[in-house]
Amino acid sequence: MDPKNFTKPPGAFTQQPAKTGMFKDLEATELYCPRCQKPVPVRKRLLLVLPQGDKYEYRCAFCAETVGEKMDRHGKHMTLIV
Ligand SMILES: [Zn+2]
Repeated sequence: MDPKNFTKPPGAFTQQPAKTGMFKDLEATELYCPRCQKPVPVRKRLLLVLPQGDKYEYRCAFCAETVGEKMDRHGKHMTLIV
């Protein structure tokens, strides 16, 4: 019997960083890089501008490997220039 285990308040074990709610806009700031083999900070680069939206790619900040892509759709506010 260790009395120290029974004197801690219930909240003492739940000091995890609040990770939920950080992804309001699905904006990725860290992605897994297969080359670095760890989650890395990424740089967002505009890749293509398409009628249906802008295509971004995420590149590893260390080795510049492409680690993800994202399509930002314009929705109905797009002005079509054809
Ligand atoms: Zn990398």
